[in-house]
Amino acid sequence: MPIKLAVPNKGRLNERSLEMLKRAGLEIENGGDRLLFASVKNGNFSVLFLRAQDIVRFVQTGAVDAGITGWDLVLENGNGVELVREMGFGKCRLSVAVPESSGINSLEDIADGSRVATSFPNMTKQFFESIGKKVEIAVISGAAEVMPRMGVADFITDLVSSGSTLKSNNLRELAVISESQAVLIASKNLHSEKMKELEELANALESVEIAEHKKYLMADVPVAVLDEVRTFLPGIDGPTVMNIAGRDDVVAIHVVIDKSQIYNTVNKLKKLGASGILIVPIDRMVP
Ligand code: AMP
Repeated sequence: MPIKLAVPNKGRLNERSLEMLKRAGLEIENGGDRLLFASVKNGNFSVLFLRAQDIVRFVQTGAVDAGITGWDLVLENGNGVELVREMGFGKCRLSVAVPESSGINSLEDIADGSRVATSFPNMTKQFFESIGKKVEIAVISGAAEVMPRMGVADFITDLVSSGSTLKSNNLRELAVISESQAVLIASKNLHSEKMKELEELANALESVEIAEHKKYLMADVPVAVLDEVRTFLPGIDGPTVMNIAGRDDVVAIHVVIDKSQIYNTVNKLKKLGASGILIVPIDRMVP
């Protein structure tokens, strides 16, 4: 039986999830937006496209074996799932935000009986109980940020990423309730064989994430400057150095480097007389 893996069918997490799974090596047969199921040519998986909110419930009940969704949704909808891996994207935080004009500068300033609009009632309730505040929760399904202006609530709790939505609605972030990002989760009672395979997928996803910060650099370098090149291009175990047929004054070097180092490295190599510099992306890095 293939592992039933649920992936968000739209929204922020959809594209990145699919891209990472594909780069991890799963050949997912894509059939457009309305597709519910996709088979995977290689690997023992079948992919289901579902709403990110529903994925938590389906994984909890075992209707699907595993899924990619937001950690915020896992926390909000009761745990009962196994966290297999943080995916490293979709990073955001559930925060308390107040109108800039409210005069509220800290959590202590929030009066008992204040109304908070949120689509995360459980986490919000827990948070305010933990700090000993009695607040009234107005549950909404979206657009929390307009609720104070509409007079529906005194303040909100909502997901914040860049903070620009809060700013454009004249709201100020007061406190972070929880950090979140996309996660790979599994059913608690998953058969050990399936769990093993899921862990292999998690390893493959890790190799994709590591590779995203790296590039593969190739260059032809004069032999005379090789020692100097080694001082700033350590790579993983130093650059791989290869002879070029018919040349004894120049060698080819190959090295994996951090994306952030490319600009300076290329400049240094050029100054030392390197030529034929190529920088190519890496799909995966398996240690
Ligand atoms: P921002 O303006 O970048 O702070 O984004 C805030 C808006 O995007 C809010 O409406 C949030 O509900 C939503 N949002 C931000 N990050 C995420 C995420 N990782 N997953 C789902 N919704 C998010």
